[in-house]
Parts: sequence; C-alpha cells; structure tokens
Amino acid sequence: MGGNNKQFAVIGLGRFGTTVAKALYRLGYDVLAVDSDEERVHAFSNEATHVVQADSTDEETLKALGIRNFDVVVVAIGQDIQANMMATLLLRELGVPYIVVKAANALHGKMLEKIGADRVVYPERDMGLRLAHNLVSSNILDFIELSPNLSIVEISAPAFVVGQTLVQSNLRALYEVNVVALKRGDDIKVPPKPEEVIMEGDVLVLVGNNEGLRRLEAEVQ
Ligand code: ATP
Repeated sequence: MGGNNKQFAVIGLGRFGTTVAKALYRLGYDVLAVDSDEERVHAFSNEATHVVQADSTDEETLKALGIRNFDVVVVAIGQDIQANMMATLLLRELGVPYIVVKAANALHGKMLEKIGADRVVYPERDMGLRLAHNLVSSNILDFIELSPNLSIVEISAPAFVVGQTLVQSNLRALYEVNVVALKRGDDIKVPPKPEEVIMEGDVLVLVGNNEGLRRLEAEVQ
C-alpha cells in the first residue's frame, strides 16, 4: 500500500460521508471524521482514526482541529447547504490543500467552485446516470461521466467484435472510442495490445466522447 501517510478529514457523517471515511480508514489511511451531531459521532467512534463532535462552520473550531494540516478534506454535509458552503469557504481560507465537496445540484456545484472547492461531486446524479446506462443494456456494466462530453464505459465485448483483434474491430474509427483496458477474468490488460484478439466474455473499458459511446451503446443493446 503506497502513500499511507496521506491524511484525510471527512466532515458530515451522513450516508455518503460515513462511506467515504470508512473506506479510507479501511484502506489504511489516517481519517479524522467530524460531525456536529453527538449521536452520529458516537455511532461512528470505531470507524476512523479520530471521530470528533464539532461544528464545521466555526472557524476557531476548525483551527483547533488543525484542519489545515490535512491533505484532503471532504465536505459531506448534505441538507444544510449553507453549512456546506460555509465550511468549504473556511477550509479554503485556512489553506487546506485539497477540498472535495458534495453538491446537491449544478447551481450549488457552481457556487462551490467559485468559493474554492477543488473538486465537486454529485453522488446522486452520478449514480443515477450509471444506473440508467446499466438498465438500458445488461452489456453496459458501468458508466462514468468525466466531463459533459467525455465518458468511460465498461461493456461486455459485443458479438460483432468477438474473434477480431482490437485493430480489426475498428472501434476507434467507427465510434471514436479508445479501448483503454481489456478484462479477461482476473486478468486486466492495460493498455491492451492492438493485436489482442477479443474473446467472448471479455470486458472492454472504453473512453470516448458521449456521442460515439451512445452509438456504440445502441449497437450492444
Ligand atoms: P447522505 O445523503 O450522505 O446521508 P445527507 O445529504 O442526508 O447525507 P445530512 O444528513 O444532511 O446529509 O448531513 C450529513 C451530516 O452532516 C449530518 O450527520 C449532520 O449532522 C452533519 N452536519 C450538518 N451540519 C454540520 C456542521 N455545521 N458541522 C458538522 N457536521 C454537520
């Protein structure tokens, strides 16, 4: 495990925040978990390195926690948008190097970027998109939007490319997508060789613009 000395703080222990904090902690990282609610703090006490009851909209409190010494702070406060933004602003002013914030919607996200969030995440929207793409076709295993134009899609190798090499499959020319990985059971080829023959059951991980990916998705439905 590399880079285990990276320090994380997660503020807001709802479903999203607890999931992030717990996963980081289990990966072996130091995690400070913060929530203003005593019961939530108590319930989470064994799931992170330190679990602290504190109001993250109070500058002195954040200073006392030494929050600026953390490499990454995740603001996972959901319902209370004002608290979410206030915390983000204070973290920025205190000089936290990397601030990730959960946004409720696009406008909220835009404001967060303006006040200094380094990364804004939209878990509900992203999960909704992934689910929709997966429901459209059982061949589409996963879908991650990288930008409004660009996505990553994981698909089961469609019948029309099985038996062909990646070059022969011509996916790049036909759909303007690049195969960045090929998964065969536990074996993952990154990047796959152009002369690799695609076999039935292979999973292709593709990067491309949404238009090309949509056309390909329509083909594999
Ligand atoms: P999820 O969808 O992840 O469950 P949510 O959107 O419902 O979350 P909330 O439950 O509103 O999010 O907020 C998450 C947590 O943030 C709550 O446990 C709440 O106590 C905490 N919280 C709210 N305001 C503050 C604050 N100022 N400082 C610290 N924690 C806060």
